Amino acid sequence: MSELVLVINAGSSSIKFSLFETSAADPIVLFKGQMEGLYVEPKFSAKDAADNKVANETLPSDAPKNHDYALRYMLNWLESRIEGRSIAVIGHRVVHGGTTYSKPELVTPEVIAGLEALIPLAPLHEPHNITPIRVLEELLPNVPQVTCFDTAFHTTQPELNQLFALPYEFSQKEGIRRYGFHGLSYEYIASVLPEIDTRAAEGRTVVAHLGNGSSMAGLLGGRCQLTTMGFTALDGLPMGTRCGRIDAGVVLHLMNHLKMDAKQIETLLYKESGLLGLSGFSSDMRDLENSDSPRAKLAVEYFASSVVREAASLAAAIGGMDALVFTAGIGENDANTRKAVCHQLRWLGVELDEAANAVRSSEPRRISLADSKIAVYVIPTNEELMIARQALACIA
Ligand code: AMP
Repeated sequence: MSELVLVINAGSSSIKFSLFETSAADPIVLFKGQMEGLYVEPKFSAKDAADNKVANETLPSDAPKNHDYALRYMLNWLESRIEGRSIAVIGHRVVHGGTTYSKPELVTPEVIAGLEALIPLAPLHEPHNITPIRVLEELLPNVPQVTCFDTAFHTTQPELNQLFALPYEFSQKEGIRRYGFHGLSYEYIASVLPEIDTRAAEGRTVVAHLGNGSSMAGLLGGRCQLTTMGFTALDGLPMGTRCGRIDAGVVLHLMNHLKMDAKQIETLLYKESGLLGLSGFSSDMRDLENSDSPRAKLAVEYFASSVVREAASLAAAIGGMDALVFTAGIGENDANTRKAVCHQLRWLGVELDEAANAVRSSEPRRISLADSKIAVYVIPTNEELMIARQALACIA
């Protein structure tokens, strides 16, 4: 009898879920969906395995709008679809594992206390990851829960690459170090690389996770050596609305000269910068590429040029590059960004196959010429599947 695995990815205003069945070698998705607009106007939507919309509901205006109610609603909906079958394990995406968690953990009271201790490192995210664990513990007390961390994959970075050049005590006592994020995506890519290209799997591979949030990582033999995000998910590449790498002196200037307070600076750096800030009108790469505005063009160029610079920097850190992998929304779908990046990396040995790059597909594929020194791939990521696999492995 196959088992069911529920994957939960909760944020401040939404809870995403995927329900997997485990009859095949790898879990297969049965339903996926989300409750969005929490605390404002919650809406529930879901799709089945064939991508058909099977739910699209606005909650009654007198219903609670919080995470707790959203989870109960979601679970009720799921239970009405699974015909008496039960959930064997629940996997949660947890943004921060700090230095404490370098692998998935079965939830215990100690683990919950451990996660609470990490709230200061990710105050905007960690509490929303903990709430569903507590609620589901109450609703499904006999179902084991597993936490899967976005930082865990990066704990293999050498200490050198985890440090800032602040006084050493700050990394030891205050935990101010480069943790890196998007680890579940990189872990998925590393897990499929051996089937796609053994040289890339065993050698030096740079992975570009380019989506609304973007980062890159340099892998050696499938293990992370260096990643572009740091203490928070603000560092590295520019993103939809986040600024990416910035001189810390700018923040001091904003405070001291422009008299902005912490909350205003947080809003500026997280919500008003990146592609949105540069273009002045959209955080979505599709809008920018369809626009004639010079500032949209500037934003698109800034993004590609940042990917190029980080790719070269990561290559230096891992001693060269055997393969470059594009993944996530922009990486998987945006042939223009891939082309711009690959052209600017020709000096390093990237020879793009323009025809292959232009093909739209949801399958992993090679987009470099056969004689390209660096093999370039597009590999769709699957963080939910990674969580399902980790949750199952943890209870096995
Ligand atoms: P993600 O966060 O991985 O879901 O990626 C979301 C981002 O992918 C969106 O904000 C878009 O900018 C980008 N994206 C999705 N499809 C395309 C496309 N066909 N061309 C360009 N960008 C795309």
